Amino acid sequence: MIISERKPLDEIRKIVEPLQRFFLIGCGACATVCKSGGEEEVFQLQEWLIDQGKEVTGSVVIDEACHLPRTGRDLRHHKSAVQEADALLVLACGGGVQSVSSQTEKMVIGGLNSVFLGNVKRFGQYEEKCSLCGECILNETAGICPVTTCAKGLLNGPCGGMEDGRCEIDSELDCAWHLIYERLKQQNRPGVFARRVPAKAWSKSCKPGRHQLKNTGR
Ligand code: SF4
Ligand code: SF4
Repeated sequence: MIISERKPLDEIRKIVEPLQRFFLIGCGACATVCKSGGEEEVFQLQEWLIDQGKEVTGSVVIDEACHLPRTGRDLRHHKSAVQEADALLVLACGGGVQSVSSQTEKMVIGGLNSVFLGNVKRFGQYEEKCSLCGECILNETAGICPVTTCAKGLLNGPCGGMEDGRCEIDSELDCAWHLIYERLKQQNRPGVFARRVPAKAWSKSCKPGRHQLKNTGR
């Protein structure tokens, strides 16, 4: 999921300062799990805005703010409250903010910083595991991503700085390539070490990414 955190209130204060009325939007997916843009956080932001002397015309937590049709549907449903607002303040990832801004002429303010695509380690703790490179080699690396978990994103074994299985960039962390080697050894297969991995085709992760399901079964 997309890991996000609320922007510092001082930053939000400066943006909302010249405006008076706001419609608030949260996201029921990632931002709710991260506790950055769920019902509770939308309510907290509403209380904070009122303390700042602002008005809140209404609010909604969209199931998935990055889902364009759902965002459009919910904005239509709250049409008059949206119309009354000077701006829409969105507690969702960058995708969600743009989903909203594509559906309205109103000023849209993003209240969160999107940090990375992450896994939940435990409540409130997240780890980046995938950089969305578009050319996945996990099947050869025993399920450990060197593009993301090696500090240098190396593709053909460790750098010269690894020491006792630890990363030279951060000695608190295991070297990703040490972990890959140990796990492949345990599985008794050469995996990625059977070949020389060519330089990554970064064109596969060219921005903006587009993808369409080939077999929808329809
Ligand atoms: S190899 Fe690429 S797609 Fe696969 S986990 Fe790593 S970054 Fe993600
Ligand atoms: S020590 Fe290992 S994880 Fe760290 S940068 Fe070198 S190869 Fe990558």
